[in-house]
Amino acid sequence: MPELTTDVRYVRGIGEQRAKALEKLGIRTLRDLISYFPRTHDDRRTCKKIRDLTDGESACVEAMVASTPTLSRIRKGLELVKLRAVDETGALDVTFFNQAYRKDNLLAGENYVFFGRVEVSGRRRSMTGPIVEQAGTGQLTGRIVPIYPLTAGISQLTLVRAMEQGLEACRKLLPDPLPDEVRREHQLCHIGYAYEKIHFPGSEEELSIARRRLVFEELFLLAIGLKRLRGRRDELQCAPWRDTDLTDFTEGLPFPLTGAQRRAIGEVRADLTSGRPMNRLVQGDVGSGKTMVAAAALLCAARNGKQAALMAPTEILAEQHYRGLSPLLERLGVTSVLLTGAVKAGERRAALAGLAEGTAQVAIGTHALITASVVYRGLGLVVTDEQHRFGVAQRAALAAKGERPHLLVMSATPIPRTLALMIYGDLDVSVMDELPPGRQEIDTFCVPGSYRQRIYRFMDREIAAGRQAYVICSMVEENDQIPDDRKAAAEYAKSLQEKVFPHLRVACVHGRMKPKEKERVMAAFAAGETHILVSTTVVEVGVDVPNATVMLIEDADRFGLSQLHQLRGRVGRGKHKSYCILVSDNRSGESRARMKVMTQTGDGFKIAEEDLLLRGPGDFFGRRQHGLPALKVADLTCDMSLLKEAQTAAAGLLERDPELAGHPETAARVEEMFAESESAMN
Ligand code: ADP
Ligand code: MG
Repeated sequence: MPELTTDVRYVRGIGEQRAKALEKLGIRTLRDLISYFPRTHDDRRTCKKIRDLTDGESACVEAMVASTPTLSRIRKGLELVKLRAVDETGALDVTFFNQAYRKDNLLAGENYVFFGRVEVSGRRRSMTGPIVEQAGTGQLTGRIVPIYPLTAGISQLTLVRAMEQGLEACRKLLPDPLPDEVRREHQLCHIGYAYEKIHFPGSEEELSIARRRLVFEELFLLAIGLKRLRGRRDELQCAPWRDTDLTDFTEGLPFPLTGAQRRAIGEVRADLTSGRPMNRLVQGDVGSGKTMVAAAALLCAARNGKQAALMAPTEILAEQHYRGLSPLLERLGVTSVLLTGAVKAGERRAALAGLAEGTAQVAIGTHALITASVVYRGLGLVVTDEQHRFGVAQRAALAAKGERPHLLVMSATPIPRTLALMIYGDLDVSVMDELPPGRQEIDTFCVPGSYRQRIYRFMDREIAAGRQAYVICSMVEENDQIPDDRKAAAEYAKSLQEKVFPHLRVACVHGRMKPKEKERVMAAFAAGETHILVSTTVVEVGVDVPNATVMLIEDADRFGLSQLHQLRGRVGRGKHKSYCILVSDNRSGESRARMKVMTQTGDGFKIAEEDLLLRGPGDFFGRRQHGLPALKVADLTCDMSLLKEAQTAAAGLLERDPELAGHPETAARVEEMFAESESAMN
């Protein structure tokens, strides 16, 4: 008897080769197979007689191939197979491009079902490249057909056939991770029904019943996992911190704080003195000055005799924070250390000793801050910058190093509030909706590649006036398809230096550089020693060189809008008028629409919204962005109301059974879900 763990080769039609290909899709067992849900469905239920076909509709037609199909080679790389099919009402001309095998596999005198888009011109009815199957099969036509993401060696038909067998064999064996009372209370169908209908729904309604259940299940498991990961923060208490006087800090700054900064700092101070661990998200557009909020929090920690960690997603950013913050803190009597993968062994030892002995109060770094070798002496505050790049578990690991440390999370990525709640739990949000004064709008242009010489002349003038420029260039695809940013940036920089700007200094930074080297190049650019910095996207997050006024982005259409906005945010940081030039030769409507958003608004929140609309949430909330487990069916931006229901149900279950002792299947599935996300994050 087959079981859920039976190898997929159990299925007829799946041999060694296909099993190998299926493995690429993550399918090894029957359970994996039936858990491989379709990306979408195609409604192929409408069946018609040829006479009744109308122009532009998609329909199935059962018809007999009237004569042997003909194959003609129009030119190299273009082969046509043509045939005429007939039913009792008329004739249909069918054409296939580059499917020469059709000539032999469609037999004259046999009946087939064709599904495709109909074209009618005069009395002639035709279809181009329809789906075909033998009449009576009913697998790819005549019903709502699942459409699966494929891989080489696996066709839709293969998967449809395998799925039918897999479901037949073990749909009834699936254990249900949803407790029965939850399932009933929320009117959710049985798991077996859901699995069958998510693949092969008989109607839209069946599909939505199945989908609703599976989405709920997924969100429910996610909510349980997050709740457990987070612990019951509500019950947590900590000794309230003393409120500290920050006048020396604010007065030592070269600028007055903005209203938004003062508000956010005030909220942070209120949290720290409340007697409960802080869990606050500071959301503010690029350049809104979030770093100063972090600095104030770090200072509060030090003045309460606690250590604090500031964690950044890249070495460059960590180093920049260190360069900016350590003198500022030092003046106020606070010692900070830098810990990244790039720090030399000797310095690292000294930094570690400083933290362990408590002579250093602030640690600034990358995820090197959470490796086991870092020992703190009273870690009371953890600040993460651009945290959306850290996983939930990474944050938890860092938090575990302190006794209930306060958490401050800074993000320039606007997230819908419900989603933020899901990811961060009961977090509080400070919105920084104000830029420091005197910022000028960044003029943004989108131009084709043929404008390059004019752009270069423009850059030349800016640099002659004392400014600096960034150039973001494309990745080069290597033979093995792995983009090589080193080559792209280095070659671009070389040709700029030699052919265009021999009188200037062009530097280059890329992802595969040694960290020390990278730091040196960045520092030289920050110091104004180089005029043009060519890079791939390493400058994306948070780099701060106020004298740079030109951001030139090659092949801008490769980037997401939010990413473009982040890149653009590298300029316009000082008092000089700044420019962002997007180079794109992509004339597609979608690309033009996206570039237009960039040229028309500088509002990061608006851009994120547009990004969401244009790209869809799957991309926008790429898992690397939020660090959540991958979701198969649920869509965190569309299934909001179900999300709330699932969260309530999860909270209820954990209240009744905090350790899930009576719900082993639920516990196992939660663990599975988070284990997968862990391995994907590393
Ligand atoms: P974010 O991290 O929010 O993108 P930063 O903290 O890097 O922004 O600040 C961007 C720039 O603005 C930095 O050069 C910083 O020194 C400057 N800045 C921060 N606060 C102010 C302020 N209140 N007035 C003027 N400039 C400021
Ligand atoms: Mg920042």
